Amino acid sequence: MKRLDGKTALITGAARGIGRAFAEAYLREGARVAIGDIDIDRAQETADEIGAFAVRMDVTDQASIDDAVAKTVAQLGQIDILVNNAAIFTAAPIVEITRDDYQRAFDINVSGTLFTMQAVAKHMIDHGVRGRIINMASQAGRRGEPLVAVYCATKAAVISLTQSAGLNLIKHDINVNAISPGVVDGEHWDGVDAFFAKYEGKKPGQKKREVGEAVPYGRMGTAEDLTGMAIFLASDEAEYIVAQTYNVDGGQWMS
Ligand code: NAD
Repeated sequence: MKRLDGKTALITGAARGIGRAFAEAYLREGARVAIGDIDIDRAQETADEIGAFAVRMDVTDQASIDDAVAKTVAQLGQIDILVNNAAIFTAAPIVEITRDDYQRAFDINVSGTLFTMQAVAKHMIDHGVRGRIINMASQAGRRGEPLVAVYCATKAAVISLTQSAGLNLIKHDINVNAISPGVVDGEHWDGVDAFFAKYEGKKPGQKKREVGEAVPYGRMGTAEDLTGMAIFLASDEAEYIVAQTYNVDGGQWMS
């Protein structure tokens, strides 16, 4: 018996990176998985490789969210597990933050999380699904960083939304929790590294090496380091866990 046998999951932003690793882990545990991503070509490629269902989904667009939820339900029958994983990283010194960058980050990371959670929660309530919702937070949401104000603020908002939604939705047997990774290697880091090269004069790869060395565990995380928590929070064992945000960060939060 696998831990997610018979379950269905929608994972946003799962065309690559952490979301893809979660999709693969859920499939290994017996779930059927839909990958909702704005990059439908990459999502389809990933889905074909791992045996998932791909659906185009822009989490900033309500019609696109509703359409993706409807197509996922049509394909998989219902949605037992939602992972709100889609997000963008953005960084700039305070005096250089633009309203456009601020708005885009909040539209994807915060509004996207809230309104995808809302659409899937409505589905779960209407169909009597005992659901699980897992939001992707970050250590960046636990404390500010000098050059990363907007991203940090979006992830703090995700932690707060997880608390309120968790407390509100548990009466419908929907558990909402979040995972807070530290630094995780992946394509996302190409942009992060380029940013710090520009603002801190770092050489390519230097920032990534430095942050990895600073993690108490001794290296950056990998997407696979997070899959155990993603499976646990989606499983029956996590029934009594409500509105929590779990650090999976190699000890970064404590350092
Ligand atoms: P990533 O950039 O590799 O992947 C993000 C995915 O989201 C992409 O497939 C992209 O196409 C998709 N996406 C972007 N905008 C979208 C939209 N409007 N609608 C739907 N999909 C959209 O990211 P990752 O590094 O795998 O991170 C995944 C999650 O983990 C994010 O929430 C991120 O904030 C969080 N996180 C990452 C790290 C890290 O160091 N990588 C650390 C802490 C938290």
